[in-house]
Amino acid sequence: IGNTLACLSPPAYRTDEGQPWVLPVVKKVEKLIVADNRLNHEYLPILGLPEFRSSASKIALGEDSPAIQENRVGAVQCLGGTGALKMGAEFLRRWYNGNDNMKTPVYVSAPTWENHNSVFANAGFEDVRPYKYWDAEKRGLDLAGFLGDLETAPKHSIFVLHACAHNPTGTDPTHMEWTQVAEVMKRRKLFVFFDSAYQGFASGCLDKDAWAVRYFVTQGFEMFCAQSFSKNFGLYNERVGNLTIVARDADNVRRVLSQMEKIVRVTWSNPPSQGARLVAITLNTAELFAEWKDNVKTMADRVLLMRASLQAKLQALGTPGTWDHITQQIGMFSFTGLNPKQVEYMIKERSIYLMASGRINMCGLTTKNIDYVAKSIHETVVN
Ligand code: PMP
Repeated sequence: IGNTLACLSPPAYRTDEGQPWVLPVVKKVEKLIVADNRLNHEYLPILGLPEFRSSASKIALGEDSPAIQENRVGAVQCLGGTGALKMGAEFLRRWYNGNDNMKTPVYVSAPTWENHNSVFANAGFEDVRPYKYWDAEKRGLDLAGFLGDLETAPKHSIFVLHACAHNPTGTDPTHMEWTQVAEVMKRRKLFVFFDSAYQGFASGCLDKDAWAVRYFVTQGFEMFCAQSFSKNFGLYNERVGNLTIVARDADNVRRVLSQMEKIVRVTWSNPPSQGARLVAITLNTAELFAEWKDNVKTMADRVLLMRASLQAKLQALGTPGTWDHITQQIGMFSFTGLNPKQVEYMIKERSIYLMASGRINMCGLTTKNIDYVAKSIHETVVN
């Protein structure tokens, strides 16, 4: 768009210069891969690079996860987080809880990343429904609504939960709220399917961002966790994802993986190697792992800084309303609370581009455009 003064809906992380960022650790590991004469372009195993799958599951579940120690964790290397959701959905439609799985309700948050609906519908689920999540008025979690939907969902329904940095609202349950969610899900025998697309992006700390996933494991759930390395490694076009499977015992993992092999075979047959190799080398080499965590923190910190600056500027301008939700929300996205008319003003009058829902990607803000954006928000709210 020729005269864009600020694009607040870039599809990915951007630096303060508005540019894509190749993580320094990724550049380093790419050189190691090129220099390694032992590597070739043979097919990978159907389920993917073993050292990638195990290390990816480890960062989701934790180094000392009891489930890993008990050999009841398996993984499938997938094409991005989307691929991991797809593999999980295809498996569940074929094998979860009886023969009539097309009818099993799949619940996704209202609102959610819109592809959730289509991925599950395309896998053959006929009943993909929303569960209450966002309270527009209080600009926060609708916990009572969420728990209510868990209580009334048919037993064995599948619930897609955002592990952290909920897209698009930037609002996650607190630890206390997660424990309430887990309690109902366990009692009502609901299936937990985590989508972890932003680990590290919410707080800057991998372990903190995996709290919910790990808590559910301690509560004895069998579950799937779709992991994406698109954002936290900046490897968007390499399609690196992992489906972590936590099962009751080692025998169940083996059975699930043997069916997964069949599904992969008819879907992409073999996964691509470059991105998975990059991630595996990084996660399995202490110095590179430390450097990666530092790189992730750089991205998370920039987002936090933009949140704090935007909120401070709106407060300084005396913009009507409260803007605490800007700093309370986490991850890349924010629901600003701007209504469609205000969004239209921003686009038409100020050449600032954002979603009609009022969602912005915080990475679209830079030290150069933030004053202009804050003033424009002020104007549209006052007018
Ligand atoms: N889940 C959520 C919540 C997302 O926001 C995204 C990407 N926007 C994905 C999954 C998919 O990630 P990937 O690009 O790795 O397929």
